[in-house]
Amino acid sequence: MGIATAEKQQILQTIRQAGVVGSGGAGFPAYKKLDATVEHVIANGAECEPLLQKDRESMLQRKDDFFRGLGILRDLTDASTVTVAVKKKNEDVIDGFQSDLDANNFENLVYPDVYPAGDEYILVYEISGRLIPPGGIPLNVGCVVNNVETIINVSRAMDGQPVTDKFVTVCGAVRNPLTTVVPIGTPISECIELAGGMTTDDPFILTGGIMMGGTTTDLSLPVAKNMGGIIVLPWDHYLAQRKGQSQETYTRIGHGQCDQCSLCTELCPRYIMGYPIEPHKVMRTLLMTGEAKERGSLWAQYCCECNVCSFIACPETLDPKNICVDAKAVLRENKLGRTEDELEVLFRDPHPARKGREIPIPTLITRLGLTPYNKKAPFVTTDNWRPEKVTVPLNSHIGAPAQPTVSVGATVRVGDVIGTVEESQLGCPAHASIDGKVTAINDNKIEITP
Ligand code: SF4
Ligand code: SF4
Repeated sequence: MGIATAEKQQILQTIRQAGVVGSGGAGFPAYKKLDATVEHVIANGAECEPLLQKDRESMLQRKDDFFRGLGILRDLTDASTVTVAVKKKNEDVIDGFQSDLDANNFENLVYPDVYPAGDEYILVYEISGRLIPPGGIPLNVGCVVNNVETIINVSRAMDGQPVTDKFVTVCGAVRNPLTTVVPIGTPISECIELAGGMTTDDPFILTGGIMMGGTTTDLSLPVAKNMGGIIVLPWDHYLAQRKGQSQETYTRIGHGQCDQCSLCTELCPRYIMGYPIEPHKVMRTLLMTGEAKERGSLWAQYCCECNVCSFIACPETLDPKNICVDAKAVLRENKLGRTEDELEVLFRDPHPARKGREIPIPTLITRLGLTPYNKKAPFVTTDNWRPEKVTVPLNSHIGAPAQPTVSVGATVRVGDVIGTVEESQLGCPAHASIDGKVTAINDNKIEITP
């Protein structure tokens, strides 16, 4: 039996007020996601992106909160199963947790070391045997998927601890790759200093992950609630060249060089799960205009932007992923999409050879020139360390940005609310992540200096 409605709403409100949002990438507010009744709770510790180790460390360093959080999720959603999903590389973590898993009647899934194992469409299918409908969410098939650090933050919220810190892995071209916990809003330059500094004078920085993360050259960029990794690469690295390519360049090259071999489609993780996504057909639209282009763009609609097609599949090193991203923008703009009847015909069972087409992580590491950076990033405590200042983002979640509730000059203590979102809107408050004075407020950020 789940908990009573009034108590559930009170807990969800506590989670909201603590500012708990998805720590795995999207930043979806947890209170909203957990306002559901489901059969399966899935803790996503797959840590899909190569090089990152922050999910592993968050489970190890905050184990008690992790297990307590799993119990809270089970009670909130009235789920009959709770499964902790990791990849083979972190099987030792699961082995160490076995007695606690058994004691709580929690299950585990150890998935092979492949990319993209952390895709929630894949995890839901592996655990529940159900396919999320095209464009849908796990809730559509009775599941809820949360990143392991989000689950930890749910537990801490119940003790009145808002989200003020973040596990991050700092790796790549740095002297001492590490995983640590820093106050939200710490500039990535200070995180890189914690890792011994850069080994390149000309850095290109990936935030979040190699395959799906963003890029920046701005070292003042703050750590946000949904940023799990800082990966430094030299500007002449293959990935910097690929990710730094302009729209004009990848479109022009794709237009001239795609030979329609269809390997991008054959290896597309969503295609092999049965979804109507065929990037080679989207590439064809580079030669089209008008209605034909719009119809062809529909083959991009369910692209999850995993980059397998661009970084692994395409023998011509073209960029079908970005072509799909651009095509999806056109679909959105023109409010175009598949009809129910079309989906009925096009949405198939997963491909029988699906498992054979997943990308082994060692292959990915070699292909992307990451071998020199494929090192352990051990946990290093930062208990006695504070950044010179923080810039707390007010918009690192899906929904309405938090509106500042403090003014420049105000004195704040760690955990104080500094920004709120109206009750009627989707979103979460922001909290001071260090003690100090508010020294600037602009661009959806609040700067605090000790
Ligand atoms: S990025 Fe490429 S491989 Fe990934 S889902 Fe989109 S089309 Fe498929
Ligand atoms: S793999 Fe590359 S060359 Fe082949 S169809 Fe896809 S984009 Fe074109």
